[in-house]
Amino acid sequence: MHLYGTQNINENGHLTIGGVDAVELANSYGTPLFVYDLELVRKRARGFIGTFQKLGVKAEVAYASKAFSCVAMYQVAQEENLSLDVVSGGELYTAIKSGFPAERIHFHGNNKSYAELELAFDTKIGCIVVDNFYEIALLKEISEAKQQPMSILLRVTPGVEAHTHDFITTGQADSKFGFDLNNGQADEAFQKVTDHEYLQLLGLHCHIGSQIFETDGFSLAAEKLMQKIGEWKEKYNFECTVLNLGGGFGIRYTEEDRPLEPQVYVEEMIKTVQSHCAQLNLTMPEIWIEPGRSLVGDAGTSLYTIGSRKTVPDIREYIAVDGGMSDNIRPALYDAKYEAVIANKANEEKNSTYTVAGKLCESGDKLIVDASLQSAEPGDILAIFCTGAYGYSMASNYNRVPRPAVVFVEGGHHQLAIKRESYEDIVQNDLPLTLQKGE
Ligand SMILES: *Cc1c(COP(=O)(O)O)cnc(C)c1O
Repeated sequence: MHLYGTQNINENGHLTIGGVDAVELANSYGTPLFVYDLELVRKRARGFIGTFQKLGVKAEVAYASKAFSCVAMYQVAQEENLSLDVVSGGELYTAIKSGFPAERIHFHGNNKSYAELELAFDTKIGCIVVDNFYEIALLKEISEAKQQPMSILLRVTPGVEAHTHDFITTGQADSKFGFDLNNGQADEAFQKVTDHEYLQLLGLHCHIGSQIFETDGFSLAAEKLMQKIGEWKEKYNFECTVLNLGGGFGIRYTEEDRPLEPQVYVEEMIKTVQSHCAQLNLTMPEIWIEPGRSLVGDAGTSLYTIGSRKTVPDIREYIAVDGGMSDNIRPALYDAKYEAVIANKANEEKNSTYTVAGKLCESGDKLIVDASLQSAEPGDILAIFCTGAYGYSMASNYNRVPRPAVVFVEGGHHQLAIKRESYEDIVQNDLPLTLQKGE
């Protein structure tokens, strides 16, 4: 069985995380419960940041916080000297509330509203990653009205799309994000933002995909961006100070996944950029990256209580847990795979196969198909590994199920980071019917 970070098995045969017994966590906080191993989050962050430092390259490692955002998580990111990506007014608001330094916040999104952009100006964030021509118009309007400068990057689509085990190059990237690098859109955007009184173009951004296990896609994307930067340098004497190569670094969910160490991606990117700088006679820009999943994914574990069971003779055995697609939609949404263990039987042999069903009213609400597990009984605590990214952050109240609690563990200590929702929370925005029939 593969354990992650500080996970271990104690003398009672229970799974422990951060030195805390997972079964005790389930008992004291209830289930479903997300447990985050802070030591592992810190280790991942230091892996990225340390590599840039070792190689003497100026960088910002921005936590793509859509993977998992809450006040306490933003405080961990701040402690680890990460920068922050936000993609909505809500994430920006949360970040500011957490006390995160605004100058290290970067704002993404393909349809930022006027109000969201105003909030970015008012809170004086460090950088807006500009996605489209409409946004350029809004930014000019807002910056002029406020007479306030703003640093920007242009998000471009380089025609490189990376998938888990390969990448494809397309002449024209069919993406809802960014300016196409190959059809003149990026050049047009450049023309529109340079020499503006308040908008300060730092450089280019791209994000080529997610759960990527190879470095080739990043190198190729970096190469395409550097060529454009070289072209703008030659034609317009543009000095690029920031090259943001996005996130998407893959993690291990199951034994099929073979992730690379953070430093491998970073070293490869740096090599590519340095060689192009030398070739094109450019000054080395700062390199920014945006890991989301690879900072928090394998640091998160979901705990559930096993309840009902159903045998479909000769086909499969279902066990059902007290959560499901409402706290982890990834299996239903994109057929994501996970491994699990029965936390109170972690030292017993995995001699059974079950399909783990959720409790939501949807046939597709299965968390793991054919999970290899210890023999299960009602009341057992099921731990599903690697649910730290895009789990809680995509949670919903489907079926009016309250969203789970989130607990942080480290060095034998634990604390609540997000309270479990109550039924009262669920109805708090509901209003009684007041329209009168026939009036
Ligand atoms: C989602 C996203 C990321 C993070 O992706 P991960 O796969 O979680 O690392 C980074 N940058 C941008 C622009 C994104 O949209």
